[in-house]
Amino acid sequence: AETWDAVPLAPPDSIFKLTAAYKADPHPHKVNLGVGAYRDDDSKPWVLPVVRKATQLLLNDPALDHEYLPITGLPEFVSGAAKLILGADSPALAEGRVASVQTISGTGANHIGALFLSRYYGFPGDKAVYLSDPTWANHFAIFNNVGIAPRTYPYYDPATIGLDFAGLLGALGAAPPRSVFLLHACAHNPTGVDPTRAQWAALADAMLAHGHYAFFDAAYQGFASGDLTADAQAVRYFVQRGVPLLICQSFAKNAGLYGERVGALHIVSPTQEASARVRSQLSVLQRSEISNPPSYGARVVALILNDDALFAEWRADVHTMARRIIEMRTELHHLLTAELHTPGNWDHIINQIGMFSFTGISPAQSQALTERAHIYLTVNGRISMAGLNSKNIRYFAEELDKVVR
Ligand code: PMP
Repeated sequence: AETWDAVPLAPPDSIFKLTAAYKADPHPHKVNLGVGAYRDDDSKPWVLPVVRKATQLLLNDPALDHEYLPITGLPEFVSGAAKLILGADSPALAEGRVASVQTISGTGANHIGALFLSRYYGFPGDKAVYLSDPTWANHFAIFNNVGIAPRTYPYYDPATIGLDFAGLLGALGAAPPRSVFLLHACAHNPTGVDPTRAQWAALADAMLAHGHYAFFDAAYQGFASGDLTADAQAVRYFVQRGVPLLICQSFAKNAGLYGERVGALHIVSPTQEASARVRSQLSVLQRSEISNPPSYGARVVALILNDDALFAEWRADVHTMARRIIEMRTELHHLLTAELHTPGNWDHIINQIGMFSFTGISPAQSQALTERAHIYLTVNGRISMAGLNSKNIRYFAEELDKVVR
């Protein structure tokens, strides 16, 4: 037998497969609504003007070198990132109760966070994590990789194309005390359905009542409302309420730094002393995984986070992206309801938030859109709103109208 006889052939990643199929399609009207990356009104990737500016500052800095960063990352990036999600006035930060490490974007933060829990968290019985149904598909693989079994909790209700809040609360009550629940901080992927403020409050009550641990994934801060502070509300509220938690943070989307892999993991502890122990072990795990995080993207973000003028420009850039997406929602809703009179209720298009919309169409209808109209989307009916623009939105609305009739 040969060495790798036992290795089964894995299927390609479905999202990246979709992108490849889109690229290979010569049709002039093709539309890519698959991948979750921001595109401007010309379907082009957008380098944020503030990122261009910060990059220039970096390149002009004669003191710039390529030495290793500390194991836990660039200090001014990590502290700025913590303030961004927790608030500059966060008591947890002031009290030294937050252990933070720079990570390989949001994926790396999820990985190190999951690895840390698998080593040190007091799970009730088997190591398990509760994930929303549905969720970012990679969550399953990330937890499986560190020996934590993924389970799901009800989240999305196909009947209302909204939140199954009763189902979610029921799952919190039914799970053994001290269970770990992964929550999307804002702009839920893939549904675009977030709890309301009042629902977050009830969720915090339930989490506290059962002693559950909140594993926050914050990959879209700024993309839900267009405001970085407003989108941190759920996380800050949970910290304030004293729900035990950690936060996985990504700068891929809100800074448009996808390929630079800029992220952080923040673990909030009850005491400064506990936090010091947590930080020490995060450092040990990080050393064996990547030794030192990459410097370029972290330097760019650190410049932006620690300079008032650059930070103000970034807020405006984030708002520009979110506003375009919200405009596409309004326009799509208008085309379907007021112009085409497409059968069904399409209010979810404007009620959902963030980069994605769950259209509610069937897998067969999704496939028909791809095959007949060269519109690429995942079979679950999720569309990336960033793939729509003033030039293709009418074509998309008309083709969607045709497949649902
Ligand atoms: N979490 C969620 C929910 C996501 O949608 C993504 C990006 N698709 C990530 C984490 C991580 O992305 P990245 O590693 O590029 O920061």
